[in-house]
Amino acid sequence: MIRTRFAPSPTGYLHVGSLRTALYAFIVAKQNGGDFLLRVEDTDRERFVEGSIENLLRSLDWAGINPDEGVQFDLNKKVVQAGDKGPYIQSERLDVYHKYVDELLEKGHAYYCFCSKERLDEVRKIQELNKQATGYDGHCRNISLAEAKKKIETGEKAVVRMKMSKEGTTKFTDLIRGTVEFENKLVDDQVILKSDGFPTYHLAVVVDDHLMEITHAIRGEEWLPSTPKHLELYKMFGWTPPQFAHLPLLLNPDRSKLSKRQGDVAVEDYIKKGYLPEAMLNFVAFLGWNPGDEREIFSLEELVKEFSLEKVNKAGGVFNLEKLDWYNREYLKKMDDEELVLRCKSLLEEKYKISIFHFPISKVIALEKERATTLVELVDNLRFIFEDMEYDGKILVWKKSDAVKTKQNLANLSDFLANLSDFSKENLQSKVGEWVKENNLTNGDVLWPMRVALAGQENSPGPFEIADVLGKEKSLERIKVAINKLS
Ligand code: GLU
Repeated sequence: MIRTRFAPSPTGYLHVGSLRTALYAFIVAKQNGGDFLLRVEDTDRERFVEGSIENLLRSLDWAGINPDEGVQFDLNKKVVQAGDKGPYIQSERLDVYHKYVDELLEKGHAYYCFCSKERLDEVRKIQELNKQATGYDGHCRNISLAEAKKKIETGEKAVVRMKMSKEGTTKFTDLIRGTVEFENKLVDDQVILKSDGFPTYHLAVVVDDHLMEITHAIRGEEWLPSTPKHLELYKMFGWTPPQFAHLPLLLNPDRSKLSKRQGDVAVEDYIKKGYLPEAMLNFVAFLGWNPGDEREIFSLEELVKEFSLEKVNKAGGVFNLEKLDWYNREYLKKMDDEELVLRCKSLLEEKYKISIFHFPISKVIALEKERATTLVELVDNLRFIFEDMEYDGKILVWKKSDAVKTKQNLANLSDFLANLSDFSKENLQSKVGEWVKENNLTNGDVLWPMRVALAGQENSPGPFEIADVLGKEKSLERIKVAINKLS
């Protein structure tokens, strides 16, 4: 049984890179009929941000990446934990970690370290001056457990460090990077338990991946240098490690590491801007993977069918916003009108204080659907339907016409329209078309001012589509306003 996990630290929001990690872990579980877990790694209390767990879950839920086990929303969007291997929030598992730290101490695989911060800083400074690799110098490595316990009884503060073997190498096969090898003497005696009684990530991730029976640890490349420490811990405990897959970094277009300074990195920012979850998932999936052919549009289901970790690139993926925009436009165009109405409903109602039931809303949305990049832009672009626009009468005049003629044409058109009962786009198109010809006018003379009058702005969809959506009364009212602007 394949079991993967996404193990975010609750430090604020879901990073787009973490969305990709979660997506890949989700896909690997799903394509094998396995389970996808969510575990909250909150052992670093200094970085904890209130409300992060809800935030993370909200973004994942939006994307449709829902855990089978672990921390998740219930039907009322309340945070709950489900599964028989919990708790799944690390701060609720301290007794579990203490038990395993004790085991390592007893077996001599770990030791108490009493070094002060000042001493460690000093050691580091000297190492840097001597151009040596920095790391713990093993000062407390040989303090016996009995001696250490006595010191602790007298109130001395201590952390626990793992006793990393200093000989040989640690070698493993990463599902993405192939064989990876580290020289053990360069690997630090990592702190595994802090003086506040909390484990560090390194101990907690190993204990939990083991107890939660994780088969594939899929995570960011920044954890690659920590893997020899983790493998050493697995060895000390006598456990079989999961398979590892370290995902390439995400990069800015200038190939620097993707950072907040260069733009939005939180999934919630993209939600607020009106990106579609389908587009976002497709986009992030392609930040490290492609099917090896020309196809670019993949639904989540198709990704589950075709994705493979072995095909994930080793090189960093460039986070290119233009590509995200392209995906979003493609998905918007493709989306059926009813679905699009559901997605825009609350945005429209909030922005224009309307109830969409009072409008032929599918037709309204269709007016701008092809031209917008995001839902928010689509809704913004529809302002002219819900509000009467302020505009300068000059824009009503077509380039080969003048204000007097334009006024006359609009007045005549208005009389003609007043006698039409069928205001459907098709009927308007044929009837107004005939009328233009019969009166020896051109489209520019009539359709330009008609369109501008109806939209109240220079650029807009065609006049017949707008009139169809506005209806007869509103259309005539706007034409009248236009005529008055030409006096
Ligand atoms: N808590 C770690 C992070 O947020 C998870 C790393 C892992 O998946 O092992 O990056």
